[in-house]
Parts: sequence; structure tokens; C-alpha cells
Amino acid sequence: MTQSDTVMPARAREGRSGLRLYAMTCGWLSCDISLMLGQATGHIKIPVPVYLIEHPKGYALFDTGIHPDCQHDPHGRLGWIADLFDVHFRPGEDIVGRLAALEIDPGRIDYVVSSHLHFDHVGGNALLPNARVVIQAREWDAGRVPELMQANAYDPRDYDLGHSIMQIDGDHDLFGDGSVVLFATYGHTPGHQSLRLKLASGEVVLAGDSCYLRQTLEDLDLPKHAHDRAQMIESLQMLRRLRAAGARIFYGHDPEFWSDVPQAPLPIT
Ligand SMILES: [Zn+2]
Repeated sequence: MTQSDTVMPARAREGRSGLRLYAMTCGWLSCDISLMLGQATGHIKIPVPVYLIEHPKGYALFDTGIHPDCQHDPHGRLGWIADLFDVHFRPGEDIVGRLAALEIDPGRIDYVVSSHLHFDHVGGNALLPNARVVIQAREWDAGRVPELMQANAYDPRDYDLGHSIMQIDGDHDLFGDGSVVLFATYGHTPGHQSLRLKLASGEVVLAGDSCYLRQTLEDLDLPKHAHDRAQMIESLQMLRRLRAAGARIFYGHDPEFWSDVPQAPLPIT
């Protein structure tokens, strides 16, 4: 990585070839660790990751973090969910603040790829007015069925905002050149998805909450709450196969793993 990579403003980066991936921490949550690993005891503080993908054809985000109202009133925004999590989220840590580090106006984001509809993954959608949301049809459908919304703790204020919605079914090649491919990893929620992308250094998989922690993949120790546990195991087996084939897995909320991930404006190489 060169110095120019780290500081080059968005305008200067435009038009260059290749794919770049940036990681951003949009707050932290602390909770009982059994919410992450069903068999474990104690507490854990977890990052809320958001990724920016810069492709010659446009900008895509993988998830958008937490709604900025949680910076001052998490209980008001999240209701009973705020009893499960302590929210550590300060002004400037939302997606708009993080994009500012890359000199990218939020209005220029072309796609928001939503792994699923939980508050810590779609809470920033409200700040991205021009993005097209790309989501598995099963997840979008679940976000409109009252029983599933309640069972999965979905809040339509996070996602029912009038964005253009692209509903997909399984694999989807986002830019049409095989470099960024979304794929179903159902189980955590009805229509959870993950993303594979080809960096110069090899394949990276953004697992989202199909795999919270490295230990989840090692032990297949599922979180206390999951929509469909058998399906979640199948998704984890798929991630294991991708890892065995050489892909680097980026876990959904792993603080130890996250401590080694470069943060924007540094790219992931
Ligand atoms: Zn999450």
C-alpha cells in the first residue's frame, strides 16, 4: 500500500481500475456472550462493522450500521432490544461520519447490500438517500410479515424508507463481472446473505451475522437466538468450504479479528 492510497480523495480515485474494500466501525455493542456463542458465559464487547466496496462501476456498502438516534437515546430507538445491548456509539461514528474519512458524500452510494434487517445492519440506510438496496427476497418478505418482524426484532423505520429495492434469490453478481457476488447464508434470519469479493490478494468473504465470531466457525457453537438453527449450520458449513478453498472470512462481530482489520481510509489489501 502506498501513501497515496491512504489519502487520495474520492474524486482522484474515480475511474481507476480494480476493486477496493474498506472497513469502518460504526459503533460497538456490549452484551451477554451467550447472544454470540450459546455455550459461553460472560460478557463481550463487539464491533459493528460496515464495509465500503469501491468498484469502477460504483460504490456499494455492505450493511450500514446503527441509526444515529442511538447515539443519544438507544432505549427510545430500540425499545426492549436496548435491554440486551449497551450501545457505544458516538457522533461521527455513523456511516456518514465514516464515509467523510474517504471524502465520499453519502448521496453518491449506489448500492446498499443488506445482509439482513437487524438494527445494527440497516440502521444507517436512512442516511443514504440515493442507494438501491440489494437484499434477498426472503429477507425483504420477512420484513413485511408481522409475526416474522416480531420474532426477528425488525423495525421498519430502519428499512421501509422508500429506497429502490432489488430483491434477489440466491447468488447475485453485483457489478456483472464476477468480482462481487452476493450469496444466501440463511439461518440467522429468514433471508440472510453474505458477500464474496475478489481482491488482488485473493477472495474475501464478508460473512455478516451468518458467522459472528471465528469461534463460531471453529466450534459451530450457535448463538442463543437464531431463526433456523439447521439452516445456520448449513451456512456455516458452506463458509468452512470457502475457507478451505482459500477465502479469508470476515466475521460479523468478532472483536479479536476486528483488531487486525485496517480501518478506512486505509484499504484492506
Ligand atoms: Zn449484527
